[in-house]
Amino acid sequence: MTSSNTQGVTVAIAGAGLAGLCLAQRLVRAGIDVHVYEGDSGPFVRRQGYRITVDADGLGALRASLPDQLYELALAVGGEPGGSFRFTNSRLRDAFTLTFKAAEDGERQMDRQTLRSILLMGLDERVHYGRAAVGVERGDADQMVLRFADGSSVSASIVVAADGIGSALRRQIAPGANPVDSGMAGIYGRTPLLQAGRSVLPEVLDNSGVLALGDEPGRAFFFTTMRFRQAPQQAFARLAPSRPAPAGDDYVMWGLVLRQQEAPLGVRTDPQRLRELAARLASGYHPLVHRLIESADDDTTILSTFAIGQRPDAWPLPRATVVGDAIHAMPPFGAHGGNTALRDAALLGGKLVDAHLHGRSVESAIAAYQTEMPSYAFKAVDTAAAMMRRLTGSGRVQRMVMTRLLPSLHRVTVPEPSIIRA
Ligand SMILES: Cc1cc2nc3c(=O)[nH]c(=O)nc-3n(C[C@H](O)[C@H](O)[C@H](O)COP(=O)(O)OP(=O)(O)OC[C@H]3O[C@@H](n4cnc5c(N)ncnc54)[C@H](O)[C@@H]3O)c2cc1C
Repeated sequence: MTSSNTQGVTVAIAGAGLAGLCLAQRLVRAGIDVHVYEGDSGPFVRRQGYRITVDADGLGALRASLPDQLYELALAVGGEPGGSFRFTNSRLRDAFTLTFKAAEDGERQMDRQTLRSILLMGLDERVHYGRAAVGVERGDADQMVLRFADGSSVSASIVVAADGIGSALRRQIAPGANPVDSGMAGIYGRTPLLQAGRSVLPEVLDNSGVLALGDEPGRAFFFTTMRFRQAPQQAFARLAPSRPAPAGDDYVMWGLVLRQQEAPLGVRTDPQRLRELAARLASGYHPLVHRLIESADDDTTILSTFAIGQRPDAWPLPRATVVGDAIHAMPPFGAHGGNTALRDAALLGGKLVDAHLHGRSVESAIAAYQTEMPSYAFKAVDTAAAMMRRLTGSGRVQRMVMTRLLPSLHRVTVPEPSIIRA
C-alpha cells in the first residue's frame, strides 16, 4: 500500500457511540467525507439513558469536535458544574468526600442519551443503522474494505473501529488487545428524582455522588443525580429548534457492584429480576438505597460486566485504527471510560484534520494517534482497575478503615428512616 495524503480521503467508522460520533463530527467540520455504520437498527433502540460524568478531557474533546452551537447545547443540558463525591459505608455515613471545582470547563453530569442526540445532529445522512461490522481487510489500491454481517461491504481510505467493548474489528486491527474479564459486574438502574412532588434524596446529598462500600468484599452501591441544568425541551428549542428534544426529567442513577457469579444467566437481561437481585444483594444497606432500587424505572435496569483492556501487541493495518471502549475497556471506577473515548476521537480527528490541511499522509496521522493514545488511555485503565481492586477487594484493614473507622469520626450523614424531605 502506498502512502498518500488526505485529499479525497474517505473514512468509515464502525459504531455510533460516543467516540464514533464525536470523531465523525470533527471530520465533517473539516470537510472530510465520513460515514458511520451502526449495528443497532436505530439510534435509541436500547435504553442507554444513564448519566455520565464528563470531565475536563471529555469537555475539551466535545469543544474541539462539535460546532459551537452544539457544544453550547451540551453545556446547557449538562448538570451544574461542581459538586462533590462521598465515600460512605453501607449506612451512608461519610468516610471522606472529594469536592470538585465549579468551573465551566471543569466537570459536568450529562445524560448519555441526550449527549448522543446532540452528537448525532448534522450527521443524518452519514449514520447508517442495522450495519453490524464483522471484519476489515485491505482492498484495491489505497482502499480498506469494511464488511458487515448482512454480507454487504463498503470501501473507504480509512476504517475506524468505534464499536465498543465487544468490538468485532479489534482482533484484526489491534491484535493482543482483547480485554480480560474482571469477574465483577454492575447492575445499573435509574429512579425518578421527584416522587409525589418531592425529591427522593435528602438535601445533604443534593449535589453529591455517593459510593457506599458494603460490609463484605466485592459489594458497593453507587448513586448520583442527573439534574438537567436547562430542560432539554427549552435548550433544544433555543439552540436546535428543528430537532425533537429528548425527555428531560431529572433522575438518580444508581449501580450495585457484584461478582458476576452472583447474577445467574437467566436474570442478566431481565430488568425486573435484576432489580430484585439488586435489592437482595443490598440487604443491610440504608433504607434510601432500597427506595432507589424499588422505585426505579421499569425497563432501564441493565447488567454490565467489567472488563480490563490490554495494550495491543501491534497495529498491522496502517489505514485502520481503534477508538474508545473497543481498545481500552475499563471498569467504571473513576468515570474515565467515556471521557477517554471522547479524548481519542478528538485526538485522532485532530491528527487526520491536520494531515488533511497540510497534505500529510493518513498513515502518519494514524500512527501518531496510536503512539499517543496508549499512554493516557492505559493509564486510565490501570487506575480504574486498581481502584476497583482496592474498593471491592478483600483487604480487611482497608475495608475496616473505610466502613467503620472513618465513618465513626463523622456525624450521621443521612438519618434513618427520614429519607424523604418535604
Ligand atoms: C452505567 C454506566 C455509567 C457510566 N458512567 C460513565 C461516566 O460517568 N464517565 C465516563 O467517562 N464513562 C462512563 N461510562 C462508560 C462509558 O459509557 C463508555 O466508556 C463509553 O460509552 C464508550 O464509548 P464508545 O463510543 O467507545 O463505545 P459505546 O458507547 O459502547 O458505543 C459503541 C457503539 O458501537 C455499536 N456497535 C457494537 N458492535 C458493533 C458492530 N459490530 N458494528 C457496528 N456497530 C457496533 C454499539 O451499538 C454502540 O452504538 C459508563 C458506563 C455505564 C454502563
